[in-house]
Amino acid sequence: MSLTIVMYHYVRDPALSRYPAVKARTLETFRGQLDHIAANYEVVTAAQVAAATRGEDDLPDNACWLTFDDGYLDHYQNVFPLLEARGWEGAFFAPARPILEGRVLDVNKIHFILASEADAMKIVEELRRQIEKARELGAELRPWDDYVAEYMTQCHLDTPEVLFIKLMLQKGLPEAVRNSVCEELFARFVSADEAAFASELYLSVDQARTMIGSGMVFGGHGYAHEWLGSLDAEAQARDIDRSLEFLRLLGVPAEDWSICYPYGSYNQTTVDLVRERGCALGLTTREGVADLGRDGALELPRVDTIFLPTA
Ligand SMILES: [Zn+2]
Repeated sequence: MSLTIVMYHYVRDPALSRYPAVKARTLETFRGQLDHIAANYEVVTAAQVAAATRGEDDLPDNACWLTFDDGYLDHYQNVFPLLEARGWEGAFFAPARPILEGRVLDVNKIHFILASEADAMKIVEELRRQIEKARELGAELRPWDDYVAEYMTQCHLDTPEVLFIKLMLQKGLPEAVRNSVCEELFARFVSADEAAFASELYLSVDQARTMIGSGMVFGGHGYAHEWLGSLDAEAQARDIDRSLEFLRLLGVPAEDWSICYPYGSYNQTTVDLVRERGCALGLTTREGVADLGRDGALELPRVDTIFLPTA
């Protein structure tokens, strides 16, 4: 039984945004993709998918499940009305911390830092200054030239400078340094008021409740949006439990909830922990159409929206 799980992130009109360089599905593309889905697939609900993974029910041919990551305000403003108009359920995976604490995820900080300064070399220079500062404060870091040699490389999507900034802030630097450097660069290039920025970027608890009240579903996406697969079991359990408390706050039932692993990062410990807690469905970022006979219910692959036609 095959299931196309479509993965969305930003859905917004760049022209109307203060950050047109942020890569997003435009509303026009999104509408076109919904038309394509309507013509070629049957949109199914999380409950149908969960039942099918247990063999309790069959999915229709060409089943499609729509998933939206990261809890963006885009999802409330742009996605929710269009899905509601078609009578479709969308599944929304929101990290708790940005919404409860007004913090911007590092992954989003990187998007907006890059979208705020067209000359990537200026960001690289500031990154270098911040790294020297961290080194003076005692952080154990490799020589700058080592980082450049490893991470400033060619790829087909980004310039070497942009790729360097992304890789350094995603994984090159030790975590504590990464967080503080991200914060400094964000304050300098994007906004000094992180909480105000977060309130424009992410949806609120009330908006999530409104969506749930109108037939949408919410699932877990971690508390702090961490690489679960690189945390020890105790830290994973803590993050998952805090994210579950957040789902309770939204009114999500404790049975048969679903999780989308942040960054697609998970391991066997993660799968065991969420299964023990009654999780029915786990979403990865592995690319592909899911086959419920082959893929475990807690390790489902998805199809990135960039691969979906618009008509
Ligand atoms: Zn995410």
